[in-house]
Amino acid sequence: MENHALQNIDLYLFDMDGTLYLGNRLFDFTENLLAKIKSAGKRYMFMTNNSSKSVEDYIKKLATLGICATRDEFITSSQATAYYLKKYHSGKTLYVCGTKSLKKELENEGFTITEDTEKTEVIVMGFDTELNFAKLHDVSYMLCTRELPYIATNPDYVCPTEFGSVPDCGSVCDMIFNATGKRPVVIGKPEPLMPILAMEKVGVAPQNTAVIGDRIYTDVKSGLAAGAVAVLVMSGETTKEILEKSPDKPDFVLESAAELGEYIK
Ligand SMILES: [Mg+2]
Repeated sequence: MENHALQNIDLYLFDMDGTLYLGNRLFDFTENLLAKIKSAGKRYMFMTNNSSKSVEDYIKKLATLGICATRDEFITSSQATAYYLKKYHSGKTLYVCGTKSLKKELENEGFTITEDTEKTEVIVMGFDTELNFAKLHDVSYMLCTRELPYIATNPDYVCPTEFGSVPDCGSVCDMIFNATGKRPVVIGKPEPLMPILAMEKVGVAPQNTAVIGDRIYTDVKSGLAAGAVAVLVMSGETTKEILEKSPDKPDFVLESAAELGEYIK
């Protein structure tokens, strides 16, 4: 892809950790970059696979780092899941193996949430930091005994923490697969639904949209799948070795998202 592609971006979809900050440390360039995008009359959104936190939780998290964000600047796997559910399973009763935050988000979108396995019409798996065995039992029971739509907010195996990682939605779905032989429909990155939803909301075409992230197998893949300009930044978890070995090639590779600023006029 030619360099002018980066000059024609009207919508920037940013991964957060590894792209705009690392853990609890904001990158030096982030505030300036976001301000530059805004003053050029362009839009940015924060895109996350993490379905354990609500948009309000993320607004608070960014505020502690010094970034003032609003509700409509986020696209989360919870929102994309709600969008998918409204499109394909409108008005259905959901069993949600996820946090109170995720349940509230889906309730706000008009869905009824139940813990009654007999009333369940759709099973939704999230990054459930409130997971217990009763939920694993219920989900396994429903998948073994009935044919129900089965959806997962995100495919990540682990979520990074200060000390290393904890199991994420994908790992729990593997436990369920071992018990039931069933795999869910996955919503978050690397699937294209989050960027597609963001482009629809803002009304920007794929060729004028950049998906920027530090992971090839989630961020870059979702950008490529959505037909957007896929930008890999080397400020997070991808090394040169990983990039060389990857079958998926980003449209652009930048040392960090700071370099985007050079193309914003
Ligand atoms: Mg990241």
